[in-house]
Amino acid sequence: MPHSIGSHVLVPWSVQAGLNPPTVVRAQGSFFFDADGKRYLDWTSGSVCVPLGHGHPKVVEAIRRQADRLCWTPSGFFNDLRSRYAEALSRISPWAEGARVHFTTGGAEANDDLVKVARMVTGRPKVLCAYRAYHGNNLGSAALSGVDRWRDRFSGPCGPGGVVRFLAPYPYRSPFYADTPELETERALAHLETVLSHEGAANVAAILVEPVTGSSGLVVYPKGYLAGLRRLCDEHGILLAFDEVMTGFGRVGKSFASVRLGVTPDLFSFAKGASSSYVPLGGILVREGVARFFDREYFDVGHTHAGHVLAVATGLATLEVYEEEGLFERAILLENWLRQDLTELQGRHPNLVGDVRGLGALFGMELVRDGAGKTPLVAWHHPTPPAAMQAFYRALLARGVYAYGRYNIPLIAPPLNISRQELDLGFEALDAALSEVESLNLD
Ligand code: PLP
Repeated sequence: MPHSIGSHVLVPWSVQAGLNPPTVVRAQGSFFFDADGKRYLDWTSGSVCVPLGHGHPKVVEAIRRQADRLCWTPSGFFNDLRSRYAEALSRISPWAEGARVHFTTGGAEANDDLVKVARMVTGRPKVLCAYRAYHGNNLGSAALSGVDRWRDRFSGPCGPGGVVRFLAPYPYRSPFYADTPELETERALAHLETVLSHEGAANVAAILVEPVTGSSGLVVYPKGYLAGLRRLCDEHGILLAFDEVMTGFGRVGKSFASVRLGVTPDLFSFAKGASSSYVPLGGILVREGVARFFDREYFDVGHTHAGHVLAVATGLATLEVYEEEGLFERAILLENWLRQDLTELQGRHPNLVGDVRGLGALFGMELVRDGAGKTPLVAWHHPTPPAAMQAFYRALLARGVYAYGRYNIPLIAPPLNISRQELDLGFEALDAALSEVESLNLD
């Protein structure tokens, strides 16, 4: 039944009147299909959450088999699959010392729990987060996120408190007036040191960042910035926490961004790619030396569905496929293709595509009005995409391509096993959608 006002689903992130999205009924590989049989290329792996593409037979079969055997057991009981999956995650983690895992059902819940763990371990109240960040939409994770329109709804006096913000680097629109990556890093770290001294570093439990920011702008931090965070944390006894909900599980060319970038946090959150979103699964990995704290102290965190057996069985099968099919490494091949093709596309639309940036199979394209002038195509933090961006996404959908992004920055994040021919379909549609936006009268 098509959605209309008065339908029983409250559609997330939307004014309910006038919605007309596709009614999706099935999916396979890099494509999904609507009720009329129209095919859509899944150009951003859904919400950057289906790295395996849809319906991978090995994972589907693992889900079927596990559903027959056992779906749920209390999170306080032991379970063979839960233990095996946690061990596998420890193996692909950035730490030689290994890690322990706390499971959740998604990324927002994971970030909430990450903060609780950091506070319990350090006994300190504050958490430092970047303004340009997205950590989820639970009350806690919304307060951690730097979404301006949530400022007076879910954070500040309306949030759980203890969150302090800082400006992270953004080389394309440097908030630090720097024109080299080195200067950007140096000034961004100096700013953070100032924040720490005003807030009292001894009150800070953790600094939490996305190692590559995802939907809030797709910013790849300049060289040395994450290493600088590590240094500052070590200096002040602060835990360095990464949000790897989007960057984890091969998206940036290694198991986790921390491995690719060579900077190890003390704990990090994951979700999305863990199960390729075939079932909801997330969690946090805590390095062994930190997790040991709970050998004698109460681990005061838990959920009915923590370590849900069907979910961890899915996670195990998904990880097996990533490894058998070499998909983490394939993200590096995709990185080369995406960088080259997006740069070419920028050359064809120099006034509209202001910047192309990314790592692995996670890219963003910053759309502007005036090329080198850098005026954003639409203002940030608008609750619904303004007309120009709606026209862009509509033009893609009309050509059978689904993409997702925020503000003036659409993402490019295809399934890790997408073929070269499928990728070309996406680029053709992208080229045409950009031309359509160029033909709009934006004033
Ligand atoms: N953190 C990051 C970096 C994300 O991209 C997202 C979701 O897009 C989340 C957290 C929230 O995850 P979830 O939607 O599974 O709660």
